[in-house]
Amino acid sequence: MRLLLVEDDTMIGEVVLDLLRAEHYAVDWVKDGEMADTALLQSQSYDLVLLDLGLPRKDGLEVLRAMRARKDRTPVLVATARDAVDQRIAGLDAGADDYVLKPYDLDELLARIRALLRRAAGRAEPVFEYNNILIFPATREVQADGVPVTLSAREWAVLEALIARPGAVLSRAQLEEKLYSWRDEVSSNAVEVYIHGLRKKLGSDLIQNVRGVGYMVPKR
Ligand code: CA
Repeated sequence: MRLLLVEDDTMIGEVVLDLLRAEHYAVDWVKDGEMADTALLQSQSYDLVLLDLGLPRKDGLEVLRAMRARKDRTPVLVATARDAVDQRIAGLDAGADDYVLKPYDLDELLARIRALLRRAAGRAEPVFEYNNILIFPATREVQADGVPVTLSAREWAVLEALIARPGAVLSRAQLEEKLYSWRDEVSSNAVEVYIHGLRKKLGSDLIQNVRGVGYMVPKR
């Protein structure tokens, strides 16, 4: 999953960035509203935006309104001060999907991100099931025939992107975008390597190769 973090406070930004990366999200961080605009216009592939509302150069609310005006439906979690009820209401009215209060409770922040990502994928239920495979996104547990399977962080990132949209084909480039943020080097066959690893661990039925197009997991 690829996230855009919009936060002008360097200390808070670093804490949140470390937290999200430790959870294996690919994260891009921008520090003002105009950079947020640019990042959103350049990439269509964000799964969620964590948007601070008080930003230099362009206010967070303006960034959000512009997104919704151009029909960008990427889930947005707005961050507001604990006492700023007006901001929270303005954020929700401008098209935010949820809000989170500052200073952050980090566990709550992660839970809200997971809930929004689930909802955006049209899956209210927290478990993905296919034949003998059970996947628990919240805890990143995977079981095959009831036996826990250990995945590497990047294998997990590939699997997570695929199960977010069962039945949809993701190209190698789309999967690469989910895997890496701007700073990371992408080796050309990395996605194939992770797919190969996943198939070895989970069997070859779950992840299907759609020749010349990409990869998909079937709908249940
Ligand atoms: Ca701020």
